[in-house]
Amino acid sequence: RAKATRSGRAVFYQPSMDEDREARVNMANDLRLALDKDALTVVYQPIFDAHTRMMCGVEALVRWNRAGQGFVAPDIFIPIAEDNGLIGRIGEFVMRHALTEAAKWPRISVAINISPLQLHDASFVGSAAAIIDACGFPADRVILELTEGFFVRNPDRAKHSMAQLQRNGFRIALDDFGSGFSSVGYLREFGFDRLKIDRSLVHALGKTEKAGDLLKATVALASSFDIPVTAEGIETLAQADYVSECGCDELQGFFFSRPVSGEEISRMLADTGWTASVA
Ligand code: C2E
Ligand code: MG
Ligand code: MG
Ligand code: MG
Repeated sequence: RAKATRSGRAVFYQPSMDEDREARVNMANDLRLALDKDALTVVYQPIFDAHTRMMCGVEALVRWNRAGQGFVAPDIFIPIAEDNGLIGRIGEFVMRHALTEAAKWPRISVAINISPLQLHDASFVGSAAAIIDACGFPADRVILELTEGFFVRNPDRAKHSMAQLQRNGFRIALDDFGSGFSSVGYLREFGFDRLKIDRSLVHALGKTEKAGDLLKATVALASSFDIPVTAEGIETLAQADYVSECGCDELQGFFFSRPVSGEEISRMLADTGWTASVA
């Protein structure tokens, strides 16, 4: 953020710690109000089978249109919700909303992002199972997306929660693989059902040789465990072709479709001839 000085030069403007804290408190308060008023929404990004290029699933993504300020990115407000005890309510809202809407959609799976903090809550498994029952959506078509942080910090606890969820029929994906210190060792050790390749790795393809090598080795290992791999963040035809050649099973990204409303997903599914633009 730059502020013009009287001489017309721009100097770097750094918010003070107090201003920053105040902004976060305000955001948490607005978020709480939005939850009270049911003012959050959910959009869905289609995921395509790499072979048939037919839609095989969607990822549910929360959206918050903050009163008077426009949309706030989840990467900004999810951490604030986590710090302010609101993540459980957001998680329940997204799951209930998405699975109610998805009950109309035949065949496809629905992926839902789960914050590690939700898994810390002992009531999480029970409430997820209750939502499934109430929505009439089969648990084996729900994929819960988790990032590795939880598994690194609390391996025993993570194993226990995962096994409980899987006993209830849910499937579990390791999200954002390749964005941090991800280790393919987790795939087998924790019994993941699916692997999602982070867009930072997809975007590095063709720029560094290492990225392609890492992707190929990862896909080879995952398929030796029979774990399907989804590549996310695909923005170009070249990326779509490359990750397909590397053996990725499913494709997701702006190249195919941005996240859209539930009505739009219903329309796409009703149009039986509809496949990703580059069959
Ligand atoms: P994520 O789970 O890795 O979700 C994928 C993100 O990448 C989404 O951003 C999606 O819009 C974006 N994306 C998809 N395709 C492309 C592409 O081709 N190019 C680019 N540049 N981006 C693409 P979004 O919706 O802003 O969400 C960001 C993150 O916020 C998610 O990352 C997830 O970690 C978190 N998040 C979103 N919704 C929820 C939720 O309901 N609960 C929780 N706990 N976290 C959520
Ligand atoms: Mg995700
Ligand atoms: Mg991801
Ligand atoms: Mg992410």
